[in-house]
Amino acid sequence: MSFGDEGKGKVVIDLLRSVLNTLYSACVRYNGGPNAGHTIFIDDEKYVLHQVPSGILVPHISNLIGHGVWVNPTPLLREMNGLMDMGIVINKTRLSVDPAAHVVLPTHVMMDILSESAHAKLGTEIGSTKQGMMPVAVSKYGRESVRIQDIRDGNGKLEELISRHIEFIQRNYRSLTHEEFDKLHEDVTELKASVHALESLVTFEQSIVFIARMLQKGNVLGEGAQGYGLDVDHGTYPFVTSSNSGADAFIAGTSVPLQWLDGEHIFGVAKLWYQTRVGRGPFPTAIAPGVQGRYTKEHGMAFIIQNAGEHEEGREEGSTTRRPREIGYVDLPFLEHAVERSGVTHLILTKADRPGKVNGWEKIKVCIRYSLDGRPVNIDSNLMLLFGPRLEPEYTEMALDGALRGVSFSEQPGPVRRQVDLIKRRLGVEVPFISVGPVPGQVVLVDHHPPMAGVLLGVGEDQRRLMNDEHDG
Ligand code: GDP
Repeated sequence: MSFGDEGKGKVVIDLLRSVLNTLYSACVRYNGGPNAGHTIFIDDEKYVLHQVPSGILVPHISNLIGHGVWVNPTPLLREMNGLMDMGIVINKTRLSVDPAAHVVLPTHVMMDILSESAHAKLGTEIGSTKQGMMPVAVSKYGRESVRIQDIRDGNGKLEELISRHIEFIQRNYRSLTHEEFDKLHEDVTELKASVHALESLVTFEQSIVFIARMLQKGNVLGEGAQGYGLDVDHGTYPFVTSSNSGADAFIAGTSVPLQWLDGEHIFGVAKLWYQTRVGRGPFPTAIAPGVQGRYTKEHGMAFIIQNAGEHEEGREEGSTTRRPREIGYVDLPFLEHAVERSGVTHLILTKADRPGKVNGWEKIKVCIRYSLDGRPVNIDSNLMLLFGPRLEPEYTEMALDGALRGVSFSEQPGPVRRQVDLIKRRLGVEVPFISVGPVPGQVVLVDHHPPMAGVLLGVGEDQRRLMNDEHDG
């Protein structure tokens, strides 16, 4: 709900495995691209997912990469092969890809790197993951982008755009070396080969057709990437990602009608005891403002949080870039804003076990309100951006303790129950469960949650017609 990295992948698996007694048939990724990263631990194996929906790790779930996802076919194929090597079944029944998805080209990645280093020289870098996201967004909205269907058709658009990009790079950044030309040529050949290799592994179908088909079998869960504060429209622009990341992006990323959404079950994910941010941008509750790297003991709670946990489980570093995340206190006013604007009805609080009890009864701060020049203000992304350093967060202190595994909510340590209650009351949401470890199933149920009816949405005539229109893009 804040700036990403809340442990969404793990929560998606918990939901798909019916922790709330609800039957799901499918998982749909609808936004972001290879810049996203989920780390999920199952049976001592560590899975890192970037483009493949998390539902691939749940055997009975079918998965879709919607047209709102920027797809980079070569790393996608590599990711799929890696998963298959680990015993995960991927085939045409388990994975569909919308052929209208826009493709991240090798030149997009090159432009992203060149642009970020040009910005770095001026001290204006955004904190890009350098995966080509910003340039592919420019191509999409500049109406020159290449989609999966273009590469399947071999209609020449790919080659044409690559040449235009090379010209652009040489004109605006610098001349390319022979080696760089050769590498680009190889990468484009590999990209085409990757799309062809996907033909035998995935079903190419429109998102709406897939979703209509899956709704006949159970509920469909949308899996978002990034966080509300990073949304290109709702977030702290320009320190945002290049696509929409609020729950509303589901509609734009799949093209299903609004009526198909079950507005009573919009899940949000936030960490119970703290929050993090990678890259630049305002972060008023940062514990050690400006420290973008490894904390030391003098950074107090930030150091404790960064180093909590025995292994790498839940360690605060980016799964795509390995950049250490900046750590801050829970920001209730911003969370309230994010929950309200995205229509979240159910909030899942994660990493409740981290950092655990420290030095007996250490306290942790929680931001409860903001003032600007001494006057209380309602926070939103723009205010955060415009007045960053002048905003004064006001904190309350809460006793800190780690949630326990295998113990019901009523038996959890008092500090855990009080922190959950504080968040719940302030945000006016249900908290169906908290997550108490990186392994799916490590959850503690909180609010009683009646199972959702058989399917998320009714299947009407339109959907049935779409399903009968066998469509292969
Ligand atoms: P995402 O992008 O929101 O999915 O988050 P990441 O995958 O970047 O970060 C989440 C990390 O925290 C992963 O290593 C997860 O395995 C881990 N994780 C998720 N939930 C929990 C939890 O409740 N407790 C602990 N200790 N780790 C968790």
